[in-house]
Amino acid sequence: MIGCTCPVCTSDDPRDRRLRPSIYVDVPGRIGMLVDSGPDLRQQVLTYRVPRVDAILFTHSHADHILGLDDIRRFNFMQGGPIACYASATAWNSIRRTFYYVFDGVRREGGGIPRLDTHEIDGPFTVAGIRIVPVPLFHGSLPILGFRFGNLAYLTDCSEIPDDSWSLIEGVDTLVIDALRDKKHSTHFTVAEALDAISRIGPRRAYLTHMSHDLGHAATNARLPAGVELAYDGLVLDARVDAS
Ligand SMILES: [Zn+2]
Ligand SMILES: [Zn+2]
Ligand SMILES: [Zn+2]
Repeated sequence: MIGCTCPVCTSDDPRDRRLRPSIYVDVPGRIGMLVDSGPDLRQQVLTYRVPRVDAILFTHSHADHILGLDDIRRFNFMQGGPIACYASATAWNSIRRTFYYVFDGVRREGGGIPRLDTHEIDGPFTVAGIRIVPVPLFHGSLPILGFRFGNLAYLTDCSEIPDDSWSLIEGVDTLVIDALRDKKHSTHFTVAEALDAISRIGPRRAYLTHMSHDLGHAATNARLPAGVELAYDGLVLDARVDAS
């Protein structure tokens, strides 16, 4: 956290140095997809040497999940085309306003703009033959999306899983789920609330994400039940996607 000198913000443990939440789903030989394009996108793709971005899926339009979108221009250039982008109608409304210059059709001198092939999410869809199941979540009162890829589900930024969404995440092997801190928050699960959801879903392993500096990596991990850990930047997980 900017300006903070707490033990977590000054920790030597590299797992306490956290960039904004995002994942890269790499299906070798088929497609590389980002979930969200946060303000740290450029640093993330450089650090983890992300070679290509064929698609971007947006969970919602909060600043910490979209503000790096301009930097995908380099992938447009390398790949020679637009990037397929998927978001709900609500999220597109905000993204179009935030990135007005991408969508207003006005020619601007000198600068290139990101080239996007926009798609509205209104149910399960496939990208390059990979089946993706959007999982409606509540982030406070805002309806947002998690995503299920085969046996992995990524549920960031949620404070409630609606009744109809539990069946969509049934049987996942690996679950990544929001857990901001221990103290109650209006738009994010606490650690205890995330653990409740994990025990109801019953994955083989679960990873907490979107933590604040209240949760130091080593100390928090030490008190989590077996099969649950904090995620960290650079964590790589294997999953099986549904491909046709
Ligand atoms: Zn701090
Ligand atoms: Zn959010
Ligand atoms: Zn967020």
